[in-house]
Amino acid sequence: MSTTEVTTLKNVVGGEVVDATTGELEDVLDPATEEVIARVPLGGPADVLRAVDAAAGAARAWGRTTPKDRATAILALADALDAHEAELADLESRDAGKPRPAALEEVRSCSDHLRFFAGAARSLNGQAAGEYSGEHTSIIRREPLGVVGQITPWNYPLPMAMWKIGPALAGGNTIVLKPSELTPLTTVRLGEIAAGILPPGVLNVITGHGMPVGAGIVDDRRVRLVSLTGSVATGRRIAAAAAERLAITHLELGGKAPVVVLDDADVDAVVEGIKVGGLYNAGQDCTAACRVIATPGVHDRLLEALVPAFQGLVVGEPGGSPGGPHQDDVELGPVISGPQREKVLGFVDRAADAGAQVLTGGSAVGDRGFFVAPTLVAGPAQDSEIVQREVFGPVVSVQRAADADQALEWANDTVYGLAASVWTRDVGAAMRFTRELHFGCVWVNDHMPYLSEMPHGGFGESGYGKDLSAYSLEEYTRIKHVMVRLD
Ligand code: NAD
Repeated sequence: MSTTEVTTLKNVVGGEVVDATTGELEDVLDPATEEVIARVPLGGPADVLRAVDAAAGAARAWGRTTPKDRATAILALADALDAHEAELADLESRDAGKPRPAALEEVRSCSDHLRFFAGAARSLNGQAAGEYSGEHTSIIRREPLGVVGQITPWNYPLPMAMWKIGPALAGGNTIVLKPSELTPLTTVRLGEIAAGILPPGVLNVITGHGMPVGAGIVDDRRVRLVSLTGSVATGRRIAAAAAERLAITHLELGGKAPVVVLDDADVDAVVEGIKVGGLYNAGQDCTAACRVIATPGVHDRLLEALVPAFQGLVVGEPGGSPGGPHQDDVELGPVISGPQREKVLGFVDRAADAGAQVLTGGSAVGDRGFFVAPTLVAGPAQDSEIVQREVFGPVVSVQRAADADQALEWANDTVYGLAASVWTRDVGAAMRFTRELHFGCVWVNDHMPYLSEMPHGGFGESGYGKDLSAYSLEEYTRIKHVMVRLD
């Protein structure tokens, strides 16, 4: 019998911790044990209405606070997250199946993001006011949008919420935030913590499914901008629905990051880069280093080194388990759900059927939890499914390109455009690749690090709009031209 403590969550609306109007609850599972760890309100249309009412009611006053006052509130929220970091890391680790040290690092990154946006709130730049017609003074005002809707995925629940609320709060907007139905725990806790710091209605957290809660947020005319981090399919649906009322959309969607390895690359560094960049968070990362393209002089050496590196990874329950590895040793947790595990393994099976070689992995691990063995697939064709589609699991493919030109051509031959890396000691080659690769982020001799100060966002079907950095703050403000006649 399970000894797991099951908590019942609520929503946070207008500064109050409330039940959903539906009165219904839904189970949330620990993906490592398949045990129910929480019950979460299953919201309906009335919950969306109530949350947008609260956000709309708070918009005028919050939008008129000074940047200094908003920065002070955001800094207080960052301090409160720090004070709750152990609790939040425990929740995130259990809810999303993350190794505990990784969950703690992610929670710590959240307060850094908030502190960046607290500073950014006070340092927006713009065009100088002046007499451009000779008879008028022109002034540019940067204003809050009003109410924004924010919808997040399950792979990084708290960081994705933070990438969204940081610029929205800094820009003077009020928020209706909906976490993924699979991983709502830390976002609800964030809402509760923020309720003691932000004015009522500034940050509202409601739970439930994409339909009707996410879609309800998109359809409400008072929501001026809808920001989604999620799949391409959901991005398309939201863009189409938002087009009906011409709402602004901000879409951070899927990816299929190429890792171009040229003959002169440092193989040890590449192996480490792929192990971390490809398998962190069990490969459930939109920038995952999942599509390796190596030139002939390094291809075989790379494969030889990658196989033992993948096989040596410690797979296990993030919290540790009897007979399993200790929690501090676990490097790879489960994927998020049973259906996700089946989806990942299906990709690998079809790759093998299509002629690729599964060098290691390709199977489930253990008799409970949604674990997938770290998987290396060699030699898939450029037009094969495993090369072209996002797998979102601990699966890395390796292709042999004839030369650097073909490696570049294959790297760009994708509908996605989120992130890429190139590995070489040749500065000129690296610079050529950074110019020619069509991705929103290109790393040289690394894969995956990101910064509060630098933008994150894709091209093509990876979406549009930037998270993080001053660029994202610009997206959460609107520009008004004021023209004053002088005579
Ligand atoms: P998903 O698209 O299934 O769900 C994302 C969110 O959208 C959830 O909260 C869901 O409830 C909501 N949603 C679903 N249908 C909706 C609708 N019709 N209207 C409004 N909201 C709706 O994505 P997921 O499976 O939770 O997350 C994985 C995906 O997220 C992957 O494709 C991954 O690449 C992507 N992702 C992208 C980034 C990035 O920065 N580009 C970061 C993390 C994850």
